[in-house]
Amino acid sequence: MQTIKFLDLQRITASFEPKLTTAVHKVLDSGWYLHGQETRLFEEEFAAFCHVSECIGVANGLDALYLTLQAKKDLCSWNDGDEVIVPAMTFIATAQAVVRAGLTPIFVDVTENALLSPSLIESVITSRTRAIVPVHLYGQTCDMDAIMKVADKYGLFVLEDAAQAHGGRVEGHTQRVGSLGHAAAFSFYPGKNLGALGDGGAVVSHDKILAERVRSLANYGAKEKYNHEYAGCNSRLDEIQAAILRVKLFRLDADNDKRRQIADLYRKIITNPAVKCLQHDSVYHIFPVFTANREALHQHLTEHGIQTLVHYPLAIHEQPCMQDYVVPGTSFPMAVKIARTELSLPISPVMTDDEVSAVINAVNSYTPL
Ligand SMILES: *Cc1c(COP(=O)(O)O)cnc(C)c1O
Repeated sequence: MQTIKFLDLQRITASFEPKLTTAVHKVLDSGWYLHGQETRLFEEEFAAFCHVSECIGVANGLDALYLTLQAKKDLCSWNDGDEVIVPAMTFIATAQAVVRAGLTPIFVDVTENALLSPSLIESVITSRTRAIVPVHLYGQTCDMDAIMKVADKYGLFVLEDAAQAHGGRVEGHTQRVGSLGHAAAFSFYPGKNLGALGDGGAVVSHDKILAERVRSLANYGAKEKYNHEYAGCNSRLDEIQAAILRVKLFRLDADNDKRRQIADLYRKIITNPAVKCLQHDSVYHIFPVFTANREALHQHLTEHGIQTLVHYPLAIHEQPCMQDYVVPGTSFPMAVKIARTELSLPISPVMTDDEVSAVINAVNSYTPL
């Protein structure tokens, strides 16, 4: 029996050849490995792709989130401990970036789609609330209209965590994820829809002043060489990764379409009443299903040679590192429900029709005990 991998990165990389090898060799031969032409061009191309004016390549997605919050904190003189609203269901980086910037994460429960619930935001806003970080989880686009409405009403900064949603759109519109808030953070971790062959990240925004501060913070607090205005850090997207990302960006929309086609088949042909899919429009970084006895479904799929993962087994307020920020008496039932029942099926632009059918058949043949 052939194993169907959760994500076949080897096959994804091979599908871009020989372009990746050519791009890497070009950088090798250039003798210029950081802060060069490839990074500058990628920044331009990715900004245009996201329909924004500014893009800063950084070392990873966590840095993209952290640097944006730190830049905004510095520019607007936020105090240590000021509050930033994050969803209770996301990857840990969203909340850790807040803590790293000396700010306090305030958890808000999610909708059944695992997206920050706009109607719950207002109830946690205090005089110390400064920002909201909606996460386009699994590749779905958050209800940004509703979130921006609350943000405008209270003068809050909105940072999209777009690490799972490169190329995503507002359903029925041309607007892209990354252009819907005041700034957005992307990760180019190899498994993302736009993935490097190593670490990478980017901040995008319409805000020139914010972008300039992020760029400077990521460069030891210097706008020009050896003149360090702030205590910054070193966070760079390197030339080899930028060259690789330029090759892959060119095909991102087509790759996302392929993911959508597979998701449409999953949704249409998975008819097992014990397994629930989401209906929300998405670029399908992840295809989550929900089932009462997740371990049994995982076991069943493993026996059929299908790899699955869980995104994510703990809600953010359940993570050991976040216990200082859990307000007594609060609960996040939807985030917890998702953490207990979610299972992610294989999905990627390089899956074959046979693999897609095998996944569907295996899910449909599952009978809960
Ligand atoms: C991947 C991811 C990040 C962090 O990206 P890294 O590049 O791994 O630091 C942040 N937020 C979300 C939602 C992610 O999925």
